Amino acid sequence: MAATASVERASALEPYDGVRPDAAWREEVLRLAERRNAVILAHNYQLPEIQDIAHHTGDSLALSRIAAESDADTIVFCGVHFMAETAKILSPDRTVLIPDERAGCSLADSITAEQLRAWKAEHPGAVVVSYVNTTAEVKAETDICCTSSNAVDVVRSIPADREVLFCPDQFLGAHVKRETGRENLHIWAGECHVHAGINGPELAEKAAANPDADLFIHPECGCATSALYLAGEGTVPQDKVKILSTGDMVKAARDTHARTVLVATEVGMLHQLRRAAPEIDFRAVNDRAACRYMKMITPAALLRALREGRDEVHVAPDVAERARGAVRRMIAIGQPGGGE
Ligand code: SF4
Repeated sequence: MAATASVERASALEPYDGVRPDAAWREEVLRLAERRNAVILAHNYQLPEIQDIAHHTGDSLALSRIAAESDADTIVFCGVHFMAETAKILSPDRTVLIPDERAGCSLADSITAEQLRAWKAEHPGAVVVSYVNTTAEVKAETDICCTSSNAVDVVRSIPADREVLFCPDQFLGAHVKRETGRENLHIWAGECHVHAGINGPELAEKAAANPDADLFIHPECGCATSALYLAGEGTVPQDKVKILSTGDMVKAARDTHARTVLVATEVGMLHQLRRAAPEIDFRAVNDRAACRYMKMITPAALLRALREGRDEVHVAPDVAERARGAVRRMIAIGQPGGGE
């Protein structure tokens, strides 16, 4: 279920490139953003130069909230497509641009709305819980969206006798099933291709080689949910494991007494952590765990977005309306995940 349309798309298409992120680029990007009254948002897994020029950097939900509260006319979302869609769902009256619309997500591609409708038909009356890494069409078929931070609370909020369909991330689903002990929770067998890079033996080996290190697991993007599952299984020592949203991870970096921190997530996160606590040795559990879709938002693509007003993100109003309910329920339950 993992290797899907996004993988094929990204391997077939090279990033739009050719512009150096120098001082002239910075000046031009900021000038054009001001002229458009645009706010530039960058996910933590973006290239460092994109994170550094953005007005706000954070996780997808925090950025969507910032977008909804901002009075900018245009939101330039430097992230992957489902994130820009979520911003559009929450801010339907704004222009939302993604600098390269080919930036997909293999986890979001793990399930289509059609597949979800067929699954629902097999389980009439079931409550559908979808991870936020899904397309707008899938969100429109969903009762409650969740993030990794509040997935357990979301499922606990559903009456015990109701069946639950959980999609698309199988690792997060397994974690939720174990935490809630819920037998009537059905899990879709989707995953993110970056998961494969953060596997159990590697995690256990790194933890054993660095016994004094903290282990930070960022649950917001799907790439860390296998680590989340392994931590719960006891593959790595529980007291060293800190399951943190992006904002809390940066705070924990400032507060920890550990000299070394192992980071089990997409490698782009290291940039924010090293900026927050330069004296700590942050090491990726797997330094190959890079999301190629995130890296499609290049300096050239950002410049093009601001010059040409592309690529604009559209969500059909009826789809957005139905999806908005599921996203708002997510925000209302528990700790949906931190921000910057
Ligand atoms: S890291 Fe995985 S879940 Fe996150 S955007 Fe990339 S493909 Fe999707």
